[in-house]
Amino acid sequence: MKLAVLKERRDGETRVAATAETVKKLKGLGLEVTVESGAGAGARVSDADYLTAGATVAPDMASALSDADIVLKVRGPLPEEIAAMKKGAVLAALLAPYAEKETAAKLAAQGVSAFAMEFIPRISRAQAMDVLSSQANLAGYKAVLDAAATFGRAMPMMMTAAGTIAPARVFIMGVGVAGLQAIATARRLGAIVSATDVRPATKEQVESLGATFVAVIDDEFKQAETASGYAKPMSAEYQAKQATLVAEHIKKQDIVITTALIPGRKAPVLVTEDMVKSMKPGSVIVDLAAEQGGNCPLTRANEVCEQQGVTIMGYTNLPGRLAVDTSSLYARNLFNFVALIVDKKTGALALNWDDEIVKGAGLTRDGEIVHPSLKG
Ligand code: NAD
Repeated sequence: MKLAVLKERRDGETRVAATAETVKKLKGLGLEVTVESGAGAGARVSDADYLTAGATVAPDMASALSDADIVLKVRGPLPEEIAAMKKGAVLAALLAPYAEKETAAKLAAQGVSAFAMEFIPRISRAQAMDVLSSQANLAGYKAVLDAAATFGRAMPMMMTAAGTIAPARVFIMGVGVAGLQAIATARRLGAIVSATDVRPATKEQVESLGATFVAVIDDEFKQAETASGYAKPMSAEYQAKQATLVAEHIKKQDIVITTALIPGRKAPVLVTEDMVKSMKPGSVIVDLAAEQGGNCPLTRANEVCEQQGVTIMGYTNLPGRLAVDTSSLYARNLFNFVALIVDKKTGALALNWDDEIVKGAGLTRDGEIVHPSLKG
């Protein structure tokens, strides 16, 4: 069976879906692996590295896809890529299923069984396939480094013969995987860190990392978590109370990192224009929710801009700014998924649609969009 790894064609996408390490492992499953030439360039994996690992290198997309039974990608395929996939092929990628419904429709029409890696259920058995965690973790880390590099002051307190420099104050809004890593990174750099979230479970996590928790703790807050561990949209009343508390807090912050998301919805606005105005000139905001509309209305997706003396960073692909490590983790996540859908004895495709992981990530099957959150 042939597995193809394509070069990413979207602007600014530097990651790749397989590394030399995972090519070897995929071959160990009995698969023939073909990599499109140049696919690993942004993640520092050369064609020669893939060849040494046992892959075939195809000169272009069409020859890589020709007769491929499994296709691995980072981002959703473009129409020309979908058109070159064979009927019955399996695709695994970050398909942005809520934002890119057209891609799902085209994949279904082509007869591709597409798996959206974002939908891998967050159960213990699937942890090694959890792409959201592997990518968000490094995004949270990079957000702090980007902010620190732009901030015109130091992060830790410094006592020198010429006097003392006060530590930076860093506020993390949204304490999921990215937020937790951002807290840990900012603490390691010596900043005074505080954080907020609407999920009650985060209070203890924030405090255990040595940061202060800032939130309105009322009855709504105590129930603001879904069974799957995600945030629920909050009422207008709660948001207003929380905004008042945050407005006071934000005035004193030097760096604000926002990561607040609710799956399938526009990101909630947490840092208003007035709050930005209240910050000191030279402060920095990194908005990790930029792709979903941003947690700050002044954020411009894919841009770093200065507003009211505050630098606002709206990178939509922070994982792509650390492509070597994020590719390595993403490629391992994908390998673990492929190992689940391939029969290790025969090397043939063995898709078990009753498996919670297969069903959970399955977007299209037999010409139709089958995921319950996108159907109808
Ligand atoms: P996410 O990317 O969906 O959102 C980031 C954070 O923003 C979340 O903590 C969310 O509560 C918060 N948020 C949403 N609206 C907000 C608002 N109005 N104000 C403040 N904060 C707001 O989150 P994530 O990183 O994917 O993590 C979501 C959950 O999944 C967490 O409970 C995490 O521990 C859990 N998780 C489980 C597993 C697993 O079991 N395998 C793996 C990873 C994460």
